Amino acid sequence: MASFSEIVEEARLSARALLDYGDHLFQPTVRLGVTGLSRAGKTVFITALVHGLARGGRFPIFESLATGRIARARLAPQPDDAVPRFAYENHLRTLIEQRCWPSSTTDISQLRLVIDYQRQNGAERTLTLDIVDYPGEWLLDLPLLTKSYERWSAESLALSRGEPRARPAAEWHAHLATLSPEAHENEQAAITAAKLFTDYLRACRDERIAMSLLPPGRFLMPGNLVNSPALTFAPLDVAVDGIAPDGSLWAMMRRRYEAYKEKVVRPFFRDHFSRLDRQIVLIDALSAFNAGPEALHDLEAALGGILDCFRIGRSTVFSALFRPRIDRILFAATKADHLHHSSHDRLEAILRRMLDRAATRAEVAGAAVDVVALAAVRATREAQVQRGRDRLPSILGTPAKGETANGEIFDGNTEVATFPGDLPVDLDDFFRDDGAFRGLAAATADKADFRFLRFRPPQLDNDDASGPALPHIRLDRALQFLIGDRLQ
Ligand code: GDP
Repeated sequence: MASFSEIVEEARLSARALLDYGDHLFQPTVRLGVTGLSRAGKTVFITALVHGLARGGRFPIFESLATGRIARARLAPQPDDAVPRFAYENHLRTLIEQRCWPSSTTDISQLRLVIDYQRQNGAERTLTLDIVDYPGEWLLDLPLLTKSYERWSAESLALSRGEPRARPAAEWHAHLATLSPEAHENEQAAITAAKLFTDYLRACRDERIAMSLLPPGRFLMPGNLVNSPALTFAPLDVAVDGIAPDGSLWAMMRRRYEAYKEKVVRPFFRDHFSRLDRQIVLIDALSAFNAGPEALHDLEAALGGILDCFRIGRSTVFSALFRPRIDRILFAATKADHLHHSSHDRLEAILRRMLDRAATRAEVAGAAVDVVALAAVRATREAQVQRGRDRLPSILGTPAKGETANGEIFDGNTEVATFPGDLPVDLDDFFRDDGAFRGLAAATADKADFRFLRFRPPQLDNDDASGPALPHIRLDRALQFLIGDRLQ
């Protein structure tokens, strides 16, 4: 039977849905969620998308724009008072004028775009597009809602003792060994444990380890909750079915964990996630491939977790919490400009297979799902480089100033040609031995390790009256899938 809090939650949801429905009647609106784990490319994607729509980008596959039915797209005032605005103008300036990448997403933010267009039958219409940017880490918190503190502790500890996490976890493990869960509650112990646990999670995100599954999401992406007690807890080595003594460190950690679920996780799903109509999930698959098979496995597990969020609400215990109304989900492998175009279809095929392995797509009933490999901002060009008797399909780009891990020094202005390695044509080859990925590393012909190279944003021609257009790869295909049908 539904509990009282579930009934209250249900009533709140219904009231909100009715309000949204009323708004949509007068002002057709699409709420597009843009998510992905940290550094997947959310900020760059939104900046390029808004710029492309507002300026009129080169988007041949985005039919309504390509055929001239979009009269104009303009920014409009922020719709929700309590959500920060996406800093579009700053990000664009950084990209275009400074040729630097903008600062990444750390919190939820939003931007409203109003699109005036002509329907295919000639009628003039307006579509409001609300773009909601939020960290994908927050989605991976969903399973916590049905997990006790003790179970979460046990699972987190087990995960941290396996490879490749054990090394970055060493300092936290050493501190944990000094703690007695039954001892009297102690704020300093909690603060230190939370800090070391967070350091461990952060180290797992390092590009050479590239783990994806690192809940609780706010530890890495605290948003406006930095240093709040709801984030000052960590796992303890306690029995899964144990009972915390009153006043103990264990009870304190447990209380904060429960507060995190109630005050942070639940409101996010209720107030933001459940109101989205469309969703794009950005995935930095290349980083995971580069880091090796463990990172790939971990990414797959994270994708499974993300898919769960779209499944639930349709028939499960979570249905009282929220009912996602998302009817289109696009999974996008980002930074495809790090590969030659001959590998773009393969990247899509690999992502599709990973999603199939994570969950059967049919399970995401009620939503159309598609996959694309894209670069929201294309930072490279292509060239053929002669190596011995072979002509290798290569990419040209300007690496950011600095030194790479293997001692290569770049001045930030000189273009280099690299052979990025290509993805195997045969998918079974890629996933051989249950994920034993051979990797771009094996395919890299150069002695230098260019796998972790970061290119600067491109130098743009500014000979157009409406300013420079940002080059991209398949951004138009993403747009067509996400909103094309709403502009018919
Ligand atoms: P967020 O954390 O998801 O907001 O990620 P960002 O959008 O800030 O992107 C993280 C980093 O990935 C950027 O600083 C760039 O170095 C890189 N990046 C993102 N999108 C692209 C792209 O389309 N092409 C290239 N070459 N790099 C990108």
